Amino acid sequence: MTNPIEAACKAKGLRLTGPRRLIAEILAEADDHPDVSELHRRVSARDKRVSLATVYRTVRRLQNEGILERHAFGDGRARYEAQPKLHHDHLIDVDTGAVVEFRDPAIERLQEEIARRLGYDLVGHRLELYAVRQKARRKAKPAAAEEPFESD
Ligand SMILES: [Zn+2]
Repeated sequence: MTNPIEAACKAKGLRLTGPRRLIAEILAEADDHPDVSELHRRVSARDKRVSLATVYRTVRRLQNEGILERHAFGDGRARYEAQPKLHHDHLIDVDTGAVVEFRDPAIERLQEEIARRLGYDLVGHRLELYAVRQKARRKAKPAAAEEPFESD
């Protein structure tokens, strides 16, 4: 199994040793958007010697290299995910904090159009939807069971 984060590091000439490699591994496995303390918890489960400071420094470094993407979904906590191959946006459930990933070609197009209308070429965007679950669906099923991309 090739770890995409490790591959990205190699491409940038960044050497991953011991704890950094473990942190990269855990990040690559994460299909949610963990913050640093959650990451540290997962890393600790595999190697107790890795400190919170090391996790901080490593994600900082990976973010600066453009390998990780940093988010702050409303609660101000910095959360991380590997730079996705295919861009996606996020919907945040304000009651549970669950994060749902989505991609909508119409929205992508519209944003480019808006930029163009204003005399710009779009080079990036950040879109976060804050939402509460519809009542009927809330009763039908607990949120966690429904969306494959969901995380907290
Ligand atoms: Zn995401």
